[in-house]
Amino acid sequence: MTEPALKETDPEVFAAIQAELLRERESLVMIASENYASRAVMEAQASVMTNKYAEGYPGARYYGGCEFVDRVERLARDRANRVFDSEHANVQPHSGSQANMSVYLSFLETGDTILGMDLSHGGHLTHGSPVSFSGKIYHPVFYGLHPETQRIDYDQVRDLAKKQKPKIVVAGASAYPRIINFSRFREIAQETGAYFMVDMAHIAGLVAANLHPSPVGEADVVTSTTHKTLRGPRGGLILCSEEYGAVLDKSVFPGTQGGPLMHIIAAKAVAFEEALRPDFRTYQKQVIRNAQVLAEALMEYGFDLVTGGTDNHLILVDLTGKGITGLDAERALGQAGIVANKNAIPFDTKGPKITSGVRLGTPALTTRGMKADEMRLIAGLINDILISPSNEGVIAKVHDVVLEMCHAFPIYPYLQPS
Ligand SMILES: *Cc1c(COP(=O)(O)O)cnc(C)c1O
Repeated sequence: MTEPALKETDPEVFAAIQAELLRERESLVMIASENYASRAVMEAQASVMTNKYAEGYPGARYYGGCEFVDRVERLARDRANRVFDSEHANVQPHSGSQANMSVYLSFLETGDTILGMDLSHGGHLTHGSPVSFSGKIYHPVFYGLHPETQRIDYDQVRDLAKKQKPKIVVAGASAYPRIINFSRFREIAQETGAYFMVDMAHIAGLVAANLHPSPVGEADVVTSTTHKTLRGPRGGLILCSEEYGAVLDKSVFPGTQGGPLMHIIAAKAVAFEEALRPDFRTYQKQVIRNAQVLAEALMEYGFDLVTGGTDNHLILVDLTGKGITGLDAERALGQAGIVANKNAIPFDTKGPKITSGVRLGTPALTTRGMKADEMRLIAGLINDILISPSNEGVIAKVHDVVLEMCHAFPIYPYLQPS
């Protein structure tokens, strides 16, 4: 292990990492975009491949000595294609945002129109938000949720696509608890002559396990992160047909990035291998089941959920009826060791720094081995906190239960605290 060297060389960083380990162990991580990567994934990430420059692609590099990183990048690409049944994979994007940037650079000119999901309805910054490159370089138009059903309003998507003539239609979300109908989007894109991109960052693990309809075969290009439900290292991924492979590869490197992170690519290869195993599907099924049990239990406590439930790994709680803001909920839950994030709800009347909602996800808890019983217990704890968010006695009591649960479902037991 590397701890002894780090502890000696840099006690300050060592201490911060130890504290983070303890935090991850002793809290209920309910941030829907987070997970615990496996020991094998983290070993690959911490390997000598961090030292290697490998600009280019396997067999066509700008540096010598690439035979072993070539091997690992080929493994990663082949496995990604097997996991998602795709033709072409680019495993080099440093992040989900960079994957999206590379796609736009391939298909759009400055000022072209992007039709994406409104951030405040569950979309992502890189789908055209004015504070992101995607809203500065391109012309964004947004669709959202239907005010009554709170589901994606496909009729609105179609109307906007017809009127605004986007160059690209983007589907995919960061806070949408329901199945996304990629076929509907494809029809709309085809009908209006737009490219169709799916950003499956949040649901990639569910797609890999065939528990959410796959965008591969529907979209011209699919982007993803590898660190959310997919449970790999922090990074990005692009999938497409052979037709677009060369242009997308060029726009990742040299278009937007320099040397690839070969240690991360090695870890992506490991994560894809893990995703091909039968127990990965069992895990993803439990992720969804846990989210559904948590949703049911919260509704029994009188919480309103956006769309009234979930089909995937996350829940969006509308706190309006409980008289507490997202910000205050996040803070109170955090004090009790329950880590979640405030989140805008559709048609939120409060700003993005306050919000009226909280987003809860089950991927990390499920990796620890928690199941339905724990979800019911957690719903009760959340209810206790949110009905008396400033009662220190209640917070302390809940925190004790949280610690007990964390000790009963240990994570990274082989990493020794010191
Ligand atoms: C998380 C996310 C991203 C961005 O991923 P980063 O790796 O943080 O850049 C992009 N799109 C969606 C839908 C996401 O949820």
